[in-house]
Amino acid sequence: MDIKKLQKLFKDQPKYRLEQTQKSLFQGLINNWQEAMGLPLNLRKELEEKFPIEISGRTFISKDKNTIKALIDLEDGSAVEAVLMRHKDTRNTVCVSSQVGCPMACSFCATGRMGFKRNLEVWEILEQILFFARYLKKINEKITNVVFMGMGEPFMNYQNVMAAIKILNDKNGFNLGARHISVSTVGVVEGIERFANEELQINLAISLHAPDNKTRSEIMPANRNYPIEKILKAVDEYVKKTNRRVMFEYLMLKGVNDSDEHAKALIKLMKKPLYFVNLIAYNPTGIYNPSPASRIKKFKEILESAGITVTQRREFGQDIEGACGQLATLPR
Ligand code: SF4
Repeated sequence: MDIKKLQKLFKDQPKYRLEQTQKSLFQGLINNWQEAMGLPLNLRKELEEKFPIEISGRTFISKDKNTIKALIDLEDGSAVEAVLMRHKDTRNTVCVSSQVGCPMACSFCATGRMGFKRNLEVWEILEQILFFARYLKKINEKITNVVFMGMGEPFMNYQNVMAAIKILNDKNGFNLGARHISVSTVGVVEGIERFANEELQINLAISLHAPDNKTRSEIMPANRNYPIEKILKAVDEYVKKTNRRVMFEYLMLKGVNDSDEHAKALIKLMKKPLYFVNLIAYNPTGIYNPSPASRIKKFKEILESAGITVTQRREFGQDIEGACGQLATLPR
């Protein structure tokens, strides 16, 4: 589903034709071109041949039915996972992948342990969203939020991720508001700097997970290239330019980063007006143990008593290995 190829196909046609075609695809959510009744029959036939839009994927549904994981097949035989989270309110959030595998090798993450295979193309990112948009259409619902928190480090595939976001946001594309799109990074400083200059109001999240470089380097090897002080300097610049809030994700790992001392060290970093912390309960992927609920509660209280804004992420999809840090695909 190569968008550039689609645009090339329409280069000699009036502009409205491409817009109409893109709208059928991203808003009409057709499953194949025969369903695009507004397009002439010969064009539908040509599109069917040159630009097939069928997506091959399998779904796994959690017991509570609130999380659906999709394993989507790619042309080269690889596969990626994306996750739909159906919130109790009306939100439907899709967590998408930006790479096959991931080069960042975070020790708590199943994707990181797969190694890195390749960046996803723009349409391979969009396919994940289309897959769930079509899924939800059947029950008269829509995707309301997209988060780049699946497999891979989005800022290591910056161009394709941003190109996909532009189509998501475009009025002839998915037409999803920029404020409903979030990108999460381990702290790739060059990426944060570029992101600060994008004229879009997309949300930025930083996977911090430790308040000091020693602990962070142990669980996230990327910290050696991007230590905390460099990341926070880039984030401060981003905040200055955009005046937007930034979320710092903090995975609670028992005996690793969850002590009172860690909380106090985190306070020192987070005491800034537009910073807030999102605590995440760990989903076992083999190496670490999750912090007990009582420890998370205490950790949260320490931060809050110092005036830090803290949110806690709701658990989704642990039973189908679709929760944070659990996404991984084996080569077929
Ligand atoms: S946590 Fe994110 S950045 Fe780290 S290895 Fe996993 S997918 Fe990559």
